[in-house]
Amino acid sequence: MNLLTLQNVQNFDAYVFSKQPDYHEPTVRQEFAKAVPLRTVVVYCYDPRAVGVPAAVAREFDEVYPGEILTDEQGNKIASTTTLFEVIVAGGRAIDALRSITVAQHLFGIKNIVIVHHTHCGATSFTADGIVNAFQKEQGNDISTLYEQDSICISDFVTSLQHDTRLVRASKGTPHNVDIYGYVYNIDTDELSLVTQDKGAPVQIGA
Ligand SMILES: [Zn+2]
Repeated sequence: MNLLTLQNVQNFDAYVFSKQPDYHEPTVRQEFAKAVPLRTVVVYCYDPRAVGVPAAVAREFDEVYPGEILTDEQGNKIASTTTLFEVIVAGGRAIDALRSITVAQHLFGIKNIVIVHHTHCGATSFTADGIVNAFQKEQGNDISTLYEQDSICISDFVTSLQHDTRLVRASKGTPHNVDIYGYVYNIDTDELSLVTQDKGAPVQIGA
């Protein structure tokens, strides 16, 4: 691994939108909204066996995934045709996806948030007390108040999906109009089962 010199680090400014001389935030935001026709954010587990989740959700919601990267005349990658973004986190627990949902709404706009928990997930193999105790013993760190207890592991899928649907809905960073869904994904059959859904409120102009 090469260490970067200070000069090289400064040159990265050329790749930062907000560092451009003619930067105008509202204009840049409009350009981003046009670059990707995003509709759906899917939150799922980083377990390699869950890799089929986004394609299964794309089939269920008729989304374009993975779509195509679009380039300009110089070959620069400037846009995508996908309508589905992935947020990949341990257990697919929504607590780790809240900021990504807010940013996705701000830059592209979203209609659906799909939370997917999967069969035989590692997050069902331990308890909140178990991981807290192990961390205390192995790392000497008390993580008992670091994360919301109900978001640490999965004790049963109905509880975890209902909890995560409520958590996303309650977040101030979630747009009011989005529909939120909770599914179980069977890693062996590639099937999705709807467990819970929460339809969004109509958009109120100026509200
Ligand atoms: Zn998992």
